[in-house]
Amino acid sequence: MTHDITVTEMFASAVAGGKDRPFLHYFGAVLSYGDVDCQSAAFAVALQERGFGRGDRFCVQTQSLPQFIIAMIAVWKIGGVFVPVNPMYRTRELGLVLEDAEPRVFMAEPHLLAQAYDAFGDGHRPAWVISADSADNGTLDPRVAPPIAEVPRQPFSDFCTIIEDFRGQAPDNVWIDPDSPAALVYTSGTTGKPKGAINTQRGLALGGILACSAQGLAHHGVVLTLAPLFHVSGVVMTVTMAIHAAASVVLSYRFHPDIIVEAINRLSPSVAAGSITAFIAIMNASNASAEVIAKLTTPMSGGAPVPAAVADDYERRFGVALRTGYGLTETTGAAFMEPLREPRRVDRATGTLSVGRILPTFTARLVDEKGVEVGAGEAGEVVISGPCVSPGYWRKPEETAMSMRPDGFYTGDIGFFDDDRWLYLIDRKKDVIIAGGYKIWPREVEDVIYSHPAIREAAVVGAKDAYRGETVKAIVSLKPGAAVTIEALGTFCRERLAAYKVPREIVIIAELPKNLSGKILRRELRD
Ligand code: AMP
Repeated sequence: MTHDITVTEMFASAVAGGKDRPFLHYFGAVLSYGDVDCQSAAFAVALQERGFGRGDRFCVQTQSLPQFIIAMIAVWKIGGVFVPVNPMYRTRELGLVLEDAEPRVFMAEPHLLAQAYDAFGDGHRPAWVISADSADNGTLDPRVAPPIAEVPRQPFSDFCTIIEDFRGQAPDNVWIDPDSPAALVYTSGTTGKPKGAINTQRGLALGGILACSAQGLAHHGVVLTLAPLFHVSGVVMTVTMAIHAAASVVLSYRFHPDIIVEAINRLSPSVAAGSITAFIAIMNASNASAEVIAKLTTPMSGGAPVPAAVADDYERRFGVALRTGYGLTETTGAAFMEPLREPRRVDRATGTLSVGRILPTFTARLVDEKGVEVGAGEAGEVVISGPCVSPGYWRKPEETAMSMRPDGFYTGDIGFFDDDRWLYLIDRKKDVIIAGGYKIWPREVEDVIYSHPAIREAAVVGAKDAYRGETVKAIVSLKPGAAVTIEALGTFCRERLAAYKVPREIVIIAELPKNLSGKILRRELRD
């Protein structure tokens, strides 16, 4: 297998294989490979005219819609770096990403533009602001429609007008180095500030190829989008995987279980990757019958622990195996996956479901605290190497040196191998909370709580939750003489954090437990 591949070349060969092949299904609309090639070429010319070129960042804040993919391919065609941002991010969170990535161009859905202008503030205003409007006019299902846009007073261009203005034009040819950055995907940093993992052209292309074979996607098959496109698994386990197979992608704006079930019934996608909460929601959808759901022959869940009982239940109800995969933003998608057609494995002692075996091109070792490799059955930190592993975090040399070491990428996840090298994840070295597939770094939420004048101490931990896996719980103490209600504190957090990071439970206590050096014992509060 050649590793000297770029996403740009991969897309060009898919187009050469058949311009009329369907690429994007979006409710009633279908865009062919030729359509997306033509629109992305026009968009790329517009970007080049505005001075956007190799290495420049293009930040996008949208749900999973065609404009996201067209813009991404356009940016890749001219050697740019795509920076997807969670559409749930509020002003403060978006501002942190903009400050770090310094995008030259910013594109968002119309209802997010006014907030974006607030986030630009004085320092981070991109040279060009684009509204990702119009392509979905009249097609978007009202069940997932966003709020009516509050149009900003500041200037912006419209995506569809740009495409029309430049239709028929092609960008200057740009040679793309497989090792050049193609995307910065932001993950929570240890300080609570987000860090952008660099995903290369090669990593994104190869990730798609690996996903394709691990998932058994047929040439000209159909892929269902479950994981949102702003997450690396949305890009790799959906878009680049589909491009490699000249397959089509079913987009439905954002996850809605009933709409997903309808899409499975109508378009018979064979593969989909998503969080376990998405699969639980599908299982609970009123229109989910075995006859329909079994059309999705290769569902795969990753990004958070998959309880063995849920995988069993899924298979019992629908007659298809729900497989598990494990990867990180830094591995550009899955690095481990349960092999196709092999029975799942569960560790007898702990009941933990295995995440499967390492995928081709990766290597993995488990090491103890001293960096010494441990044997089968022994717990150690997962260290992963291979051409898909991110070369580092954007402009963060210290964090890069800490994680991307000469002997591999230190994941911070603790696991053990069985005798056949199936991996079982048992804990996270890091304290990240995963609620409904979303990662929340406690420190970030704590920092917000600490900014309330009545708060003395705060600790944020994950609390077990039957549906979301975990939810955010905050334990706080107050300054002497200060008073605040739990409701008021909740509102304070909601104004400053994306909804999924807001604590579902807040407890006020007199004193938080601490160790001898005064560090708050998060672990004790969690237990
Ligand atoms: P992200 O970079 O957002 O994809 O998050 C990666 C983290 O998600 C990993 O470090 C793991 O802690 C967790 N994770 C991913 N897949 C799994 C899985 N199958 N089981 C348990 N945890 C997982």
